[in-house]
Amino acid sequence: MDYTRTLKRGVIVTHYRDTYARIQLDYLKDNVNTLYQKVKKPMMAIIKANAYGHGYKEVANSLKENPHISMFGVATLKEAIDLRKLGIQQDILVLGAIPLENLDKVVKYDISLSLFSLDYMKEIQSLFHHQKPIKVHIAIDTGMNRIGLKSKEEFEKVLKLCSTDIFQIDGVFTHFATADDDLQKAAYENQLSMFYEILGDHQFKYIHCQNSASMMYHHETRSNIARIGIAMYGVDPAGDECLQLKQVMSLYSKVVMVKKVHKGEHIGYGFTYQADEDEYIATLPIGYADGFVRANQGRKVYINGHYYPIVGRVCMDQVMVKVDESVALHDLVEIFGEHIPLSQMAKELDTIPYEIVCLISERVERIYEPVLDKIYVSQ
Ligand SMILES: *Cc1c(COP(=O)(O)O)cnc(C)c1O
Repeated sequence: MDYTRTLKRGVIVTHYRDTYARIQLDYLKDNVNTLYQKVKKPMMAIIKANAYGHGYKEVANSLKENPHISMFGVATLKEAIDLRKLGIQQDILVLGAIPLENLDKVVKYDISLSLFSLDYMKEIQSLFHHQKPIKVHIAIDTGMNRIGLKSKEEFEKVLKLCSTDIFQIDGVFTHFATADDDLQKAAYENQLSMFYEILGDHQFKYIHCQNSASMMYHHETRSNIARIGIAMYGVDPAGDECLQLKQVMSLYSKVVMVKKVHKGEHIGYGFTYQADEDEYIATLPIGYADGFVRANQGRKVYINGHYYPIVGRVCMDQVMVKVDESVALHDLVEIFGEHIPLSQMAKELDTIPYEIVCLISERVERIYEPVLDKIYVSQ
């Protein structure tokens, strides 16, 4: 897909730089459907961190009327409020701690909190006075040791001590540490049975534990809503190539300069690369300030059907690639996408696809398909 043509037709009006992420929103819907077929229960769309770098406004807009998405999950109060301002009507859960000085905003914007420790509950109870209670989901720690109540005793204590003037308990949840790892299936099953054990016979409006990996690789029936994150964006949670899902984001750049360098010349900061012979070098306008980290040095990009190595250090805003005569000015460059899946890139970088998409910085323009009308945000 070359956006130059789109640009010429005048469809895309702002185009400041030849580096952009292509976001295929139809794939989001397809991935939600695929996961729904597996779990057959409503889902909470996890759109923290700017929807894993995909753009929360566009992602939320394209999901807000999806019949399988009945709730949204984010990481911070700011992210939750931004969603409300966008006009999202569904419940919005903040999955982590929020600073206590903002509790009035939690009620004002009708945000649901994670209640994750006895201390946190007591602090809120001593500080908070409001006509309306705060909606909460109680977080249970079944082994991850991040946030949550660690035992049945603690859980029962919270249920007993929590004031109904202050809290409206809407849900209970836990989070799996190893759902993506076949070799640690026993650990997953331990967490699940501990969750059931702590829950006992209590009933709640929302009971949730499944993340993408649990939805894809395990079967679970007690919970009544599943938290869909990375799989919605079309990426396999275990970092493998996945044919069932459609990768929503692709990243492109363009050749802004091609030059011939002579044998013995060096490329980039620190002169870490020296030409073995006379070579063609292309420059691309993408660098580590775009989230294209320095560890990409030595990896390959895709241009016109061929793969070419990144030579020299990745700069803040630009990078050089060793090409051949066939590569011309303005040629489209795939950083990841159809020919370089995120799973492969992540393996080569010794990381996970989550990290790659989350790091793509704000200055990388996101181009949406289908092309969207402007989204208005209320103030
Ligand atoms: C981020 C997050 C998720 C989503 O995880 P995926 O692996 O992307 O599906 C689910 N639950 C909690 C508590 C999270 O923090």
